[in-house]
Order: sequence, then structure tokens, then C-alpha cells
Amino acid sequence: MKKFGYFDDKKREYVITDPKTPYPWINYLGTGGFFTIISNTGGGYSFYKDARLRRITRYRYNNVPIDSEGKYFYIKEDDCLWSPGWKPAKTPLDQYACHHGMGYTKIIGAKNKLKAEVLYFVPLKDHVEIQQVRLTNESKQKKTFKLYSYVEWALWDALADMTNFQRNFSTGEVEVEESVIYHKTEYRERRNHFAFYSVNTPTQGFDTDRETFVGLYESVESPRMIQTGTSGRSIAKGWPPIASHYLEVSLKPGESKDFIFLLGFVENKTDNKFSAPNVINKEQAGKLMKKYTSSKQVDQAFLALKKFWHEMFSAFYIDSAEIKLNRMVNVWNQYQNMITYLFSRSASYFESGIGRGMGFRDSNQDIIGMVHMQPQWARQRIIDLASTQLADGSAYHQYQPLTKKGNHDIGGNFNDDPLWLVFSVSAYLNESGDFSFLDEPVPFENGEDATIFEHIKRAFYYTVNHLGPHGLPFIGRADWNDCLNLNCFSENPDESFQTTENVSDGKAESLLIAGMFVKYGQDFVEICHLLNKTDEADKAQIHVNKMKEAIDRDGWDGNWFLRAYDYYGNKVGSKENAEGKIFIEPQAFCILAGIGLEDGRAKKALREVNKQLATPYGLVLLHPAYTQYDIKLGEISSYPPGYKENGGIFCHNNPWIVIAETIAGNNELAFDYYTRIAPAYIHSISELHKTEPYVYSQMITGKESARPGEAKNSWLTGTSAWNFYAVSQYILGIRPSLHGIIVDPKLPAHIKNITIHRKFRGAVYQIKINNHPGHQTSVFHNGKILKNNLIPVAKPGETIKIIVE
Ligand code: BGC
Repeated sequence: MKKFGYFDDKKREYVITDPKTPYPWINYLGTGGFFTIISNTGGGYSFYKDARLRRITRYRYNNVPIDSEGKYFYIKEDDCLWSPGWKPAKTPLDQYACHHGMGYTKIIGAKNKLKAEVLYFVPLKDHVEIQQVRLTNESKQKKTFKLYSYVEWALWDALADMTNFQRNFSTGEVEVEESVIYHKTEYRERRNHFAFYSVNTPTQGFDTDRETFVGLYESVESPRMIQTGTSGRSIAKGWPPIASHYLEVSLKPGESKDFIFLLGFVENKTDNKFSAPNVINKEQAGKLMKKYTSSKQVDQAFLALKKFWHEMFSAFYIDSAEIKLNRMVNVWNQYQNMITYLFSRSASYFESGIGRGMGFRDSNQDIIGMVHMQPQWARQRIIDLASTQLADGSAYHQYQPLTKKGNHDIGGNFNDDPLWLVFSVSAYLNESGDFSFLDEPVPFENGEDATIFEHIKRAFYYTVNHLGPHGLPFIGRADWNDCLNLNCFSENPDESFQTTENVSDGKAESLLIAGMFVKYGQDFVEICHLLNKTDEADKAQIHVNKMKEAIDRDGWDGNWFLRAYDYYGNKVGSKENAEGKIFIEPQAFCILAGIGLEDGRAKKALREVNKQLATPYGLVLLHPAYTQYDIKLGEISSYPPGYKENGGIFCHNNPWIVIAETIAGNNELAFDYYTRIAPAYIHSISELHKTEPYVYSQMITGKESARPGEAKNSWLTGTSAWNFYAVSQYILGIRPSLHGIIVDPKLPAHIKNITIHRKFRGAVYQIKINNHPGHQTSVFHNGKILKNNLIPVAKPGETIKIIVE
């Protein structure tokens, strides 16, 4: 199979060597408010905090050809027009590479001995994207050529930008001053923000009107103005505003020149918006530009960014002979965790940035992938999430990052949602030891005062108060599996499966929530004990025990755990069903909750998972896939077999089984499953896999699909956090807990030695594991053998040496 690039482990980069990847392969820039998505050919867009409400540059999803808008550069030398990233000009290059690194992307292109290196990144503190363009004459003759930049502005609200043309085509406004193009649509009215695109040198021209620059019947591949070899000095008035600089450059043999382009976002105070009637006050923008005018300043900012990521990864890294494992654990999985944390499911090349805000369950789960790197960020995120929780313990399914308010259109009633808050709070406490967090005052969505403890208590009791005829939790609109809509009964194609409930007395029950309740309910009990709330703990324990009994009584199907009871009380995910006999989720969560470990049911269920769900490309969600729409099941049966939740490999839940296998003691199989979807391990099938070979995707097509093994929806998926959680806490077995770190490795036999560096509550733990499968494990703490595998909390600043034999 064809390859399109390679991992550069030292530099923490993935280097793409062929611009025609099987799908655009992207990267993310920014961590502090200004964000950019950038593809390997320079495609993509920017936004400020909210991909829907503050879209800075335009992007057309599902375009033909794909990925046709971006931060583009053109070079015109004589009659040859080319782009450093191959697109948009698409002239074959003599050299091409795209280095996707941690928070930066560097695209290198060369043609006729002229080399262009474009480094894109967002510095740590400022709301600006830096594009450092280095041009080098590698020939023996003087070269004279033209350089054009190009971005297309979005009119802020990305949805209106793509739909409301009766208004949009009359509102576009810009200003141009020296080498800076300012985009100020709607600035005259309620907006206080504007964007700018600058270059640190005088220009020979510019354009801000798309029709003038590109032409009405031309395309970005070869804009009309570049064909004529000049610029139109156009000032956009309505129609689509753009920004393009025009520079004439000459280079002596061997000479290099740097140009620094800045794409910035500025917010002014309401009473200080204008410097003259309708003229933007540019003071702040000017200050921002001054910070990045020289290459030296840019280099320093770039160094700071590299340091930032280096420190981020220093909280957890491993040394082992298993290079692919190092690659995943030390770099790419953690990087993806951070990106997923930042964007939840909002903006990628599959998430349009206008559909979803921050998902309640998604963002809570994302915490487990990043809390070790940035506990303070996790803390704040949990507060944001808890603030959208309703006083009855339920949750808005999503909230908008800009307003931090629950999204009314989508509403709530996804009954797994509240329990994920217990999970994230417990993960935060385990990591940080910041137990006072439980007293943190955070009001409910209706303004009612509460503490974080009260929030998780109400989350816990939300389940207790919503139990069905079998004593199992009501599923509501859906549980984790958004597409299993058991109370929906939709016949109307215009209804959303998830937000339409056609029966108000939704009686369907979920075994997944039941498993979650036992698992995270137990965490709640422990937290109660931590606070010496013994009565509270005992009361909660009774509910947890009752749920276990309900699962034992009504949740076992003979060889595996049932998935649900539908509205009529019929079994879902049972041998009695013709299709969808077995689902992955309850096998995982019931075993995670410890059910069936002692009496062999866990082993049985896992055997069936292996028999019915395992494929070379990962574990499918259910089997056999539904071949017909079943009104009682909803969206899941609307997908073709082998796609998405209908028997696709829904990667998010594969690590659940990995964990279950380690708990059941099957280390080899756990690691085998881990490697089936881990990007570094499936690099050789990049061409089939299609999406980026350095990050997880949400879904890989299953065995009943037309082309098994094809991935979709890369980057923003709970798969990332969960795989890191599985590999770090269960395979490598380094598990933070309330009272210290548990060391409990479940490594496959071929990994003989491994050293893990783990920062935990301010101390450093160096954990050396010598793996001898089949032998009793002993843990040595600074040379002394420990009675159990719980390493006590060290003093901040200490270095602790642990040896596991
Ligand atoms: C959603 C998750 C959901 C999963 C399974 C994803 O697209 O973001 O919230 O759990 O699908 O349905």
C-alpha cells in the first residue's frame, strides 16, 4: 500500500511527502482563543474561541474539489505560477513536504530552484496566526518573482455566512492602511471586533474584493489578477471581502528573505471603537503587530511554543523498545487529547463548527486524557460543565463555548450525561488531590447555589430517580450511543432522532447506564467517604448494590450482557434478536464495574466479543448489523450495515474492552486490541484508512461495510482520551487514585522492560517495570518493597524511584 509520509519522532512531527493524501490531513494551531485548522496543502480556516459565532476566515465544507479554501500563497516567476503547499495552484512541485508538529505546521515547496518554507503557528499569548514565509534562491542566477497572499474573510457567524446572502452581499467592509488589510464587516453596528491581515514590509499592491482578485469565472487555482501579474487595489464594498497582498521580490543566488504575515483578531472597548467616524481604532492591532515584526521575534515565540508542548508532555512519558508505543503514548495520543479537550466535537474537517457546541458527555470524558497535563484547565472545564447542569441533576447535552450556556435547541434527557460528570470530577480529584474542589461553589443552571459535591450528588441521584420497570436506568433520548433511540418512534424524516421523543413516558432502560452507575456510583461513594460523609456513603452504596442486583437479575443474556430493554420491555442486544444480538457497550461497562468477574460471566462475555465483534481493524459496535429500519430502535438502524453505530468500528468503545481485558487478566489480547486501531500501529495501511495516520478517528468501517477498514471523522473523538486512559492506566497500569498512584501493569509478554516518567501532584515518579508474565509482582519504593501496589503521595519536588519486578 502507498505511503504518504513518516513520523519524525525526535521533532514530534508527522511529515507528509505527497500532497495528494487520501483525504486532507490536518493539524490544529492555537491553545488560547485564536484557533486555526490547517491541512497539508494550506487549506483550512481560523476562528476566535467559537467556530460558529466568531469565524474569521471562510471555509466551504464538502466542496469540489475538496479543501479549496485556506491561507494560501502564490509565487509567480515568469509564467510559472505555483503554491508552496501545491494547492491551490496545483503546479507539480520539485520538492514538497508538510511538517505537522505540535501546534505548528510547516509547509515546504520548491520550484525551479526557488524554495518557499511557510511556517504557520499561533503564539501562546496572542490572538494572531503567524505565517513566516522564507524564500530562498537555490539557483546560481538572480531571481525576480511575485508573491501573493490570499485569505477569504468569513462574515463572523459561520452559519449566516453560508446562508444569508440577501444580507451578506451588501454588508462586507474593509479598510486598508499601508500593508495591513482590516476586515470590519458589521463593526459599525454591534460588533466590537475586527480582523486584520498584515505583512511586515511595504507591498506593491493588494486586493480585498474577491471578484476583482479571483474573477467571477476563474477559481483560486489561477486567480485573474495573478494571471495579469499585478493587483487591483480593490476595496470591497459588499460582495465577498478577501485579503491579498502583492509583493515583488528579488533574490540574489543563495539569498533568503523572510516575510512575516499576521492574521489577527482584535476586540475593542465599545466606547473606544473608532479613531474617526467609521474608522477602526487600530491602536491594539498596531501593538500586536509590533510584537511580531522581525524574524527574531517570531523565532522566540516559536521557541516558547515548542517549550510549552515539551513541558506538557513531560507529565507522562515512557522509554521502551516498542517504538510505536512510545510514539503514541509520548506524543500523538496526548496531543490529540489536548486538541479534543480544546474543541470538543465542534470544528474539524468532519465537524463543521456550526453544528455542535461543547458536548456535556464528550467534554467530561475528554478530561481523562488531559487532566495530568493541565489539571487547572480540567478544573475550569468541569466548572463550566457543572454550571450548565440542571438542578434535578440532569444536563444540557451541549453548551456554546462563547456563552457557556446550555443549548436549548438540543436540550437534555440523554440519561448517561450526568454520570460522566461524576467520572470527570473523580478523575480530577485522583490526579490533583485538590479535594477542596468538592466545596467549590458552582451554581446550577437556574442560579441555585451549590458546591461541586452537590453537583455530583444530584448527578448520582438523577439516575436513582429515573429507574424503569426492571430497576435499570431509563435511557431517555439516548445514552452514550446517540443513535439508539428507544423512545423516539420516528416516522417523519424531518425530525431529529436524538431530540425527538415521540413517547413522553419513555420506558426504555439501558444496561450501559446501569454499568456506568455501578462504576461511577462507587466513585461517588468513595468521595463521600473522603469527606467523612459516612451516612451519605452508606445510602449511596445501597443504590449501587441494588443496581448490581438489577444487572444480575435482568441484565445477563446467557453468554453476554444485554444492551437495553425497549419501550415495550423487549430485549435489545440479545440472542433472541435476529439482528443486533450483541452490543459492545454493556460488555465493557458491566465488566469495568466489576460485574461477572468472579463467576465467569465477564470471561464469557469477552469471549463473545472476540468471536462476534473482533475484526483485524478493530471491534465493531454490534453484530449482526441491522439491515432494516426499525422504528423501535431509531437512528442506529437507519445506517447501512457496517457504518457508524450500526456495526461500524466505533473506536471510542474499543479501549473500554481493552480495559475490560486487562481487568479480566488477558494482557495479550488487551494489547492486541489496542494495536488494531492505534494510529502508529496501522501506519502501513494509511491508504485504506484514509484519515490522518497520526490521530484516531471516530469510526472505521466494519466487517459488513462495502470497504472495511476505512476511517472517518478524525481528531475530535472520545477515542483519543479513552485510548490514552486505557494504555496509561491499565496496560502500563499507572493509575492515579485519591490516596496515591496505583502501579498495576498488564503488559504483553514481548515488552520486557519499560520506564515510565510520571509527574503526580508535584513530585516525579520514575517507574521501571521488568515484565515477567506469570510471576507475582513486587513493587519497590525507593529500594524498599511495598506491601501493596499503592505508591503513597510524595512531597512536591521529590523524585521517587519505583521498580516493579
Ligand atoms: C458523539 C458522542 C456519542 C457517540 C456515540 C459521537 O458522535 O459525540 O457523544 O457518545 O457519537 O453515539
